[in-house]
Amino acid sequence: MPRAMLVNPWVYDFKFHDFWVKPYGLLKISTLLKSAGFEIDFIDCLDRLAAYSPEEFKKSDSYGKGAYYCEEVEKPQQYKRVPRKYKRYGIPVENFKKELENMKRPDIILVTSGVTYTYDGVRLAADILKDKFQVPIVLGGIYATLCTEHARKHSGADHVWQGAVNNVFLALAGKLARTRIDPKQEAEFNELVPDYSLYKELNSVAVRFTNGCPFSCTYCASKSLYEGFYQRNALNVLNELDSYHKRGIKNIAFYDDALLYKNHYIKGILKEVIKRGYNFVFQPSNGLHAAYIDEEAAALMKQAGFTDIRVSLETTDYSMQKSTGGKVDNEIFKRAVENLKKAGFKGSEIGVYILAGLPGQTAESVLNDVRFVAKLGIKIKPAIYSPIPGTVDFMRIKPDIKAALNNEPLLQNEYYFLTINNDYSWEDNVRIKAEIDSINSAV
Ligand code: SF4
Repeated sequence: MPRAMLVNPWVYDFKFHDFWVKPYGLLKISTLLKSAGFEIDFIDCLDRLAAYSPEEFKKSDSYGKGAYYCEEVEKPQQYKRVPRKYKRYGIPVENFKKELENMKRPDIILVTSGVTYTYDGVRLAADILKDKFQVPIVLGGIYATLCTEHARKHSGADHVWQGAVNNVFLALAGKLARTRIDPKQEAEFNELVPDYSLYKELNSVAVRFTNGCPFSCTYCASKSLYEGFYQRNALNVLNELDSYHKRGIKNIAFYDDALLYKNHYIKGILKEVIKRGYNFVFQPSNGLHAAYIDEEAAALMKQAGFTDIRVSLETTDYSMQKSTGGKVDNEIFKRAVENLKKAGFKGSEIGVYILAGLPGQTAESVLNDVRFVAKLGIKIKPAIYSPIPGTVDFMRIKPDIKAALNNEPLLQNEYYFLTINNDYSWEDNVRIKAEIDSINSAV
């Protein structure tokens, strides 16, 4: 029987916290390979509850979130100007190596990757795995997709997979593992569910009811990760939720980019969730689209168990709203907040994402956004901008800067970018963050 090892590596960054983090794509690949007859071994360096994770980091808050074990590491040269500690998040490296001792030699190893500038974790895992097993390593995920050339040269993987899985991916996996994998229909890829049986202990799951996003915001790489937009079969989604309910899992994180789009879809599912009496806590990881939060949608979200709602606004500047994609305006946003409050969400349960440091966005402009949101009595969740390959904004930047960012994904880190952004500096951010903290503490 062919054997695959799936690995979710460490994250190197200035901050990282377990907000129900799961390697969603990798878990779907497990489902796919198991259906093709593979035996699967799995190591998730970011699984706080695993036997190989330090005991003191298994504690979670009432919603199952918690801090990762981490070790401070030396900053790469590029980050010397960033006044923060740089860390490797995830299980101790020795525990990873020990875990490998208990595993059989696989035919193929699949490693996933997160945001582009955290790739040091990928390289570390690939080096250890290569040393131990000498079998083909295939790298997929966000870094592999957005910085493919860099990953080919520097990740240590033998093959770099760009984008979502498909029949070409299956053919590659079959060839490397010297087995035949039957091709699938397009819909089967879209309806794949993640394989949570790989986790012995589990207090949350990530789900997607939809794939991709119908919008095209100039700062977002969603289209490079999944072309088009797909809403999954509602019955399949409900069956999936039912399996989590039966396993006693309460916390469900949405990884969708456009969960509420054409909201009759989500309304139908939420009505059934309410009817079945599931006791889930739902939390959207990405910002929800204000335009689809009408009175009924807000009421259904409240009854179904949504908490810690995040709504996208990004900027209150009308011309910037239009030039970056036009997904929301201030009136639409205010109406969404009114609907959420009317449905029973407290101001402290509603967070709004605003971007800070978009191309041409000054500190003054960000302050206007902060003051606009402050009047609504909800929490402000600032997101610092950095240019990401695969976005329209990335294509617009000067060729020499673009080349530098392509050559070194570390430069795409938002904290690093603050140190070179002429429109919105590190000092601007410190000043505005203090104002936001003070506003948030009063909500
Ligand atoms: S920012 Fe949100 S709405 Fe815009 S393209 Fe990305 S996922 Fe879609």
